[in-house]
Amino acid sequence: MDETNNKGNILLIDDLSDNLRLFSELLLLGYNVNSVTSVKMTRKTLKAKPPDVILFNIDTPEINYYDICKFIQNRQHLINIPILVIVNLNHNFDKVKAFECGVIDYITRPFHLQEVIKKIELQLTIQRQKFFLEKEIKKRKKIEDILQNSRALILSVLNSSKDAIAAFRAVRYAKTQKIKDFRCLVVNPIFAKLFNRRQSDIIGKLGFKNLIAQINADLFEDFVAVVETGESLEQDLYYSQGDDNCWYQFVAVKLEDGFSLTVRDITVTKKFEIQLQEGNRQLQLIANLDGLTQVANRRCFNNYLKSEWEKHLQKQHPLTLLMIDIDYFKLYNDHYGHQQGDECIYRVAQGIAMITKRPTDLVARYGGEEFAVILPNTTLEVGLVIADLIQSTISSFEMPHATSKVSEYVTLSMGVSCLIPDKNTTANDLVANADKALYEAKNQGRDRIIFL
Ligand code: GH3
Ligand code: MG
Ligand code: MG
Repeated sequence: MDETNNKGNILLIDDLSDNLRLFSELLLLGYNVNSVTSVKMTRKTLKAKPPDVILFNIDTPEINYYDICKFIQNRQHLINIPILVIVNLNHNFDKVKAFECGVIDYITRPFHLQEVIKKIELQLTIQRQKFFLEKEIKKRKKIEDILQNSRALILSVLNSSKDAIAAFRAVRYAKTQKIKDFRCLVVNPIFAKLFNRRQSDIIGKLGFKNLIAQINADLFEDFVAVVETGESLEQDLYYSQGDDNCWYQFVAVKLEDGFSLTVRDITVTKKFEIQLQEGNRQLQLIANLDGLTQVANRRCFNNYLKSEWEKHLQKQHPLTLLMIDIDYFKLYNDHYGHQQGDECIYRVAQGIAMITKRPTDLVARYGGEEFAVILPNTTLEVGLVIADLIQSTISSFEMPHATSKVSEYVTLSMGVSCLIPDKNTTANDLVANADKALYEAKNQGRDRIIFL
């Protein structure tokens, strides 16, 4: 059987003495008819071109139809060819035996031509349907094999992955169509292990909401959002399970009415990242801190002054600066030694820091035994009050200074300046003014506060 316009190949085993009309009629109707009259010819034709239907006149001389039927039955590629036999009404025809050896139907002579043709057509139709069915089965088998292979491939990828992988489908409320939960379509072994379950306990089951609540109950809505908006989710999450403290990276991507989820253990990287951040923070701190006094250093002072100046320029707020210098400190060093001198500088720094407590205030070691205090959003009046407080705090420490020319204790001279920044001034003007005031304080005899 083929797919051309040929209505079918018929092998007519007959001596044609009686059935010439049938032969020509079949040809006229468009069938391809091969007529044979001997055993040899029959076998040859069956071998060379197996027909779709065999029409067998069992009264054909010299041809034993049982032999031919046996010949056909013993050959796998011929076994399905339907055999129709033509018998004489008075012929001693053993139907059971005939059916047993492959005969499908019989026609008794005399017959109506139309009856024969109808029976042939019926067999051809069955053959044709069989042919297409077999073709369809082959096609499906091929698709099944492809599916089987790709399933095996996916499974091997899933099973060998070091990441936890799963896919979920949304389950919605019938009325509102809102997502109620997710049903698990597939999970790999790592995913099951991550949630302390067996794969079979998760696959096909509803219960993602409970599963994810193990990590964080609020997360469920994030996954709902992935499905509803189509926007992927990428999130690092901290997960504590018994003594294990782990970091996981979750990546969820919309997949039809659900999502695929990849969970990667990033604990090692994350811990390293946290260490690095902490290290950087420490470095930043060290880079901005004065080693001796533990207050800000000059570099930090410069940066902070610059940024505060900009802010105050925009907001038109007053910015106050104190410049503080220990009096007769060279003499202090000469008398008590450098180490004690260091101690004194440290205590003065701590004393100043005790007074300037607002988070925005900044105490910095400006150099040697000199300090600067930036007081954001502070008027000159308030600045002077703070300067006073610093002075009285240091004097309350009563740090002996035997060689000072103004007091028996360590004293400070201070210059105070205050500006509301404008286009004609810079932060340097604020520093210069405070410096000038400090110089004036020294000039006027030290242990005092002068403002400009
Ligand atoms: P004045 O009252 O005019 O400020 O006099 P002064 O002696 O304090 O000023 P001067 O600038 O002449 O001397 C400052 C001294 O501070 C000189 C230096 O030895 C000392 N000094 C600077 N840095 C340090 C430090 O880190 N540790 C110690 N111990 N001394 C320091
Ligand atoms: Mg000094
Ligand atoms: Mg000085």
